[in-house]
Amino acid sequence: MTKKILVTGGAGYIGSHTCLLLLEAGFEVVVVDNLCNSSLESLRRVEKLTNQFIRFYKVDLTDFDSLSKVFDDHTFHSVIHFAGLKAVGESAEIPLHYYEQNIGSTINLLKVMQANNCKRFVFSSSATVYGDPASVPITEDFPISATNPYGRTKLFIEEILRDQSKADKDWQIVLLRYFNPVGAHKSGMIGEDPQGIPNNLMPFISQVAVGKRDKLSVFGDDYDTPDGTGVRDYIHVLDLADAHVKSVQKIDQFRGVTTLNLGTGKGVSVLEMVKAFEKGSRKSVAYQIVDRRPGDIAECWADPAKALEVLGWNAKLGLEAMIEDTWRWQSNNPLGYEPSE
Ligand code: NAD
Ligand code: UDP
Repeated sequence: MTKKILVTGGAGYIGSHTCLLLLEAGFEVVVVDNLCNSSLESLRRVEKLTNQFIRFYKVDLTDFDSLSKVFDDHTFHSVIHFAGLKAVGESAEIPLHYYEQNIGSTINLLKVMQANNCKRFVFSSSATVYGDPASVPITEDFPISATNPYGRTKLFIEEILRDQSKADKDWQIVLLRYFNPVGAHKSGMIGEDPQGIPNNLMPFISQVAVGKRDKLSVFGDDYDTPDGTGVRDYIHVLDLADAHVKSVQKIDQFRGVTTLNLGTGKGVSVLEMVKAFEKGSRKSVAYQIVDRRPGDIAECWADPAKALEVLGWNAKLGLEAMIEDTWRWQSNNPLGYEPSE
């Protein structure tokens, strides 16, 4: 029988790519999203690309009763929980909203799942839970901490999941700690569509390249890194999505909480990214060096060995593909998702 997966936040950037790969792998997909940071057009395009149907519910996960009704309509094999707010700066301005949305939503979801005896759960965590790591590469057993309210929501949710798994041994939970997701589907039809000024490096660079913004501000060139700029582990969103498909395929073999880094294991600096993007897009990317961004760390990259061992997953797409696919999406959709014709 076809397994049905509930994808929360499935209209968003990583969620939409994961829905596509889930459909291609033969799963049935139901999405719950309040569309606070996304457009239904992403899922329409996934349907077009796969020629398959996605059942969509416009529901806010903080609304317990509406979420319960979704579970009345379906029996899910497992839940992939992407939904959440993710802007670090905003989280420091309105922390209560972040705690209510991210943690409140997750508690509702876990309660509804428990009530429906659905106990397989894949969670979008983040490398941000490593805080300022003592060294790189980072393995899953590094100490965790948080430097901002967004990061704390991820850290608290991880702790809540560990508590729940201790209280009820039937839960099978996979915590996926993403490093820096970038890129887009090869078709150029779905990709990242940030609202307003992008916080993240890659969408900012691509908006400069396409002429939507004048220049990139490089946040500091005095870090203790080879060229002085920040180093991160950028991972193609399709590789990331593939790890979610493998997680739901293998989740029955896991007990309790399984924590996995999702990264490539390679660090790339801001200036290396600018140069590589200019080469890949054949556009120039103007930039200026400005002060460090508060809370930023010098370098962060993964040791991804455990994901290979446990999930049989490793990142296959390199920097060139990340840039080529970002650029195809950005140049085909300079305004992001617009309503379909
Ligand atoms: P996104 O904003 O594109 O997707 C999140 C989706 O959740 C959006 O469609 C939004 O409308 C929805 N949503 C938010 N709050 C909701 C609520 N209360 N009820 C229902 N829907 C809600 O973000 P993304 O980049 O696809 O990230 C997905 C997940 O991965 C998030 O949990 C994020 O914190 C995590 N993550 C992202 C990154 C990154 O750099 N993109 C890195 C690490 C972890
Ligand atoms: N960065 C930058 N200018 C920007 C956005 C980001 O110089 O407009 C730098 C940032 O300081 C970090 C790297 O790019 O070194 C990645 O930043 P991003 O916000 O994408 O990811 P995170 O810092 O959360 O890992």
